Amino acid sequence: MTFEEFNINEKLLEAISYMHFEKASPIQEQAIPVAMEGHDVLACAQTGTGKTATFLIPILEDLVQNGAHGFTSLIVVPTRELAIQIDQELQGFSYFTDTTSKAVYGGDKGMDWDDQKRAFTEGTNVIVATPGRLIAHLRLGYVKCNNIRHLVLDEADRMLDMGFIDDIRQILGYIPKKRQTMMFSATMAPEIRKLANSILVNPQMISIAIAKPAEGVKQAAYMVHPYQKINLITHILAQNPDYDSILIFTSTKKLINSIVHSIRKTIQGIEVEGISSDFEQNEREDVLLRFKAKQTKILVATDVLSRGIDIKGINLVINFDVPRDAADYVHRVGRTARADAKGEAITFISEADIPKFVRIESLIEKSVEKLPLPAELGEAPVWKTPAEQSKKKRFYGKRSNGKRRFFKKNSRKENPRKGNTNQ
Ligand code: ADP
Ligand code: MG
Repeated sequence: MTFEEFNINEKLLEAISYMHFEKASPIQEQAIPVAMEGHDVLACAQTGTGKTATFLIPILEDLVQNGAHGFTSLIVVPTRELAIQIDQELQGFSYFTDTTSKAVYGGDKGMDWDDQKRAFTEGTNVIVATPGRLIAHLRLGYVKCNNIRHLVLDEADRMLDMGFIDDIRQILGYIPKKRQTMMFSATMAPEIRKLANSILVNPQMISIAIAKPAEGVKQAAYMVHPYQKINLITHILAQNPDYDSILIFTSTKKLINSIVHSIRKTIQGIEVEGISSDFEQNEREDVLLRFKAKQTKILVATDVLSRGIDIKGINLVINFDVPRDAADYVHRVGRTARADAKGEAITFISEADIPKFVRIESLIEKSVEKLPLPAELGEAPVWKTPAEQSKKKRFYGKRSNGKRRFFKKNSRKENPRKGNTNQ
């Protein structure tokens, strides 16, 4: 389906074509017409499927057709980076219209605050905001909310994970009840449904498959001991000399610097940088810009980046460790192969990470290929599912005090040395 078929105005269509959007993605095809009719929407689709345009186009269409007076549209997002990115996409779509917009997020510069305050007092049409900073402005009383007619909660699942539920409820207290509300999420956890039930009115539900990495991503994994990981990265890079954009994820902020330094030490002249929520806002933006511009070949990041951030042309995502939350795997892997492109995702699994990876495989309903560790790296740990592991512990395990483990009476029949007919 093309964008012309949505019956949207010329100004928007022209901008859409400048942005090289030709065919609508499945979520856009289903949700844009419904949203343009003014319905509340609850949409669930994996990352990289084009959810941003799904809410921006109907909002802008309404503002162009029905006029925009003051603050009409509020988009709430979990992270600063996402606020900036959505505002940029919005500026692209609204290029030929009179719509004004501003990203509002926490930072440390007083100037930002004054700028944001001005956006509110001057009646900027669309505000893309993170919850905390938005509330800080709302509390000071100068934000006129009575014209708000669109509310979007993007990455709602992430906002709940990050504990923003109370903030969201507070924000809801400031904005008119009569409005169109759209909620977007990559997963449809029960809490998301609960939140949706409490804030959406007769919503149209649109769900595009369950959260799974896009088809274009080639997924693989290595069983590896922690001390072998840096050498494994070297090996993977040597095998793929044409890759120019690689994202390495780790769950631990503390590891970022040590990974960056180890890579620098091991691979002469490589452009590698790190980014985490500990970095100052402008530092984060600079690092991201350099990575987007391909000046940096490897970016080492925490999960701050895994949700929603859109960087084109990432060849490879390496999970330096297995994310705690299975949905985070989908988000991390979703950073490559955006919008139909091809990409590769490789996960490093240490022995301790096996149970987490088993959960991931059950979420994505797929077993990920475990590649043999290159011989020069030494021996790898063995992939064993938790069921196999616990069996082994029960039969041969030792207690932490080093003594032999005794079997309870009722588990005797599982002891192979006593002859177990079930095995
Ligand atoms: P999501 O929010 O679902 O993770 P995004 O809205 O960030 O996905 O879109 C992912 C990428 O795909 C972005 O670079 C976006 O510009 C691009 N994109 C979205 N829709 C289309 C489309 N219909 N045609 C071409 N590119 C698109
Ligand atoms: Mg998104």
